[in-house]
Amino acid sequence: MLKTENLTRKFGSFTALDGLSITIGKGEIHGFVGPNGAGKTTAMRIMATLLPASEGKVFIDGINAKENPRRTRELMGYMPDFFGVYDHLQAWEYLDFYGRCYGMKAGERKKQAERLLSLVNLSEQKDSYVNILSRGMKQRLCLARALMHDPQFLILDEPASGMDPMARAEMKGIVKELKRQGKTVLISSHILPELSEMCDSFTILDHGKTIFSGSKEALERKINGQQQIIIRLLSADQQEEALSLLQPLCPDARSLSASLIEAFAADVEAAALLLSRLIAGGVQVADFHRQEMNLEKVFLEVIQHD
Ligand code: ADP
Ligand code: MG
Repeated sequence: MLKTENLTRKFGSFTALDGLSITIGKGEIHGFVGPNGAGKTTAMRIMATLLPASEGKVFIDGINAKENPRRTRELMGYMPDFFGVYDHLQAWEYLDFYGRCYGMKAGERKKQAERLLSLVNLSEQKDSYVNILSRGMKQRLCLARALMHDPQFLILDEPASGMDPMARAEMKGIVKELKRQGKTVLISSHILPELSEMCDSFTILDHGKTIFSGSKEALERKINGQQQIIIRLLSADQQEEALSLLQPLCPDARSLSASLIEAFAADVEAAALLLSRLIAGGVQVADFHRQEMNLEKVFLEVIQHD
C-alpha cells in the first residue's frame, strides 16, 4: 500500500530524514517510532504531499505521490500532530466542511459525518461547537475529518499525544476498528509500548536514520541476540560452580545476588545449552527463564547498539 525509496529531507545542511525506505502492506497497522526530533513528522508530511522531499520517492498503491498529488490525497487521510479547528463551527459542520472540500454530495456528507461521529464516539457532541470540546474530543474529531473521504490509507501523527489513559485506550480501540475495516494505517508515537500491541510492523527512527523496519516478528528476532536469562539456583553455595560452568559459553554471565545469575543467549538453542551445561555439572537449578520481550527495552537497546 505504501512504499518509500530513499526518502531524504534536508533543512539547510541539517538532514532531518536520511534515506527512509519502507514498505507497508495492505491492511497493516504500521508503528512509526522514535524519540522527539527523529524525523517522524517530516516523513509523514512528505508522504502526505505537504512537504517536498530533497531526495527519494513515495508510492501509494503503486502511484508516485509527487507526480500525482491529487490522486494521492484521495487515497490517503492525514491527521497532523498539530491541528487547527475552526472554533465557530459545530462538530458536524466541521466534518461537512471537509466533505465539501472533497467534493462529496450533501446526502453522502451527512451519512458519512454521522457514521464517523459514531466511530469516534462523538455522536452526542454532534451539535457542540468545536471550541468547547476537550482536547481528546478535538483529536478524535480530527481523526474523523481525516476519514471523511473514506481513504484506504491513513497517516496519524501522534494521535494520542497529550491524552489521558482513558482517551488513549479509546484511540487504540478506534485504530483497531479501522484495521477491522481493512484500512492501512501508519501511526507514530515517541512511546513504543503505546503502539506495541496494536501494530503488525514497525519502523524505528533516530536522528533521521532508520534503525529498524519490518514485522513485529522480525523485531523480536532482532533482539533475540540480546536475550537475557535469569537463573535461580536452589542453593547459594553453588553459585561459583554455576558461574564457572556458564562462563566458557557466556563470558558475560554474572551474579545478581547470592542465588541469582544473569546470563545471555543468542537464541533458544544457546539458552538450552546453558541449562543442560548447568545440570550436567550437577548444579541444582530452581528457575531458568528468558526475560519476556519488553518493547520499551528493545527500543532503547536497538537505538544504543546500532
Ligand atoms: P519528530 O516528528 O520525530 O519529532 P520532526 O520530523 O518533527 O521529528 O523533526 C526532525 C528534525 O527536523 C528536528 O530536529 C527538527 O528540529 C527538524 N525540522 C523539522 N522541520 C524543520 C523545518 N521546517 N526547518 C528546520 N528544521 C526542521
Ligand atoms: Mg512529530
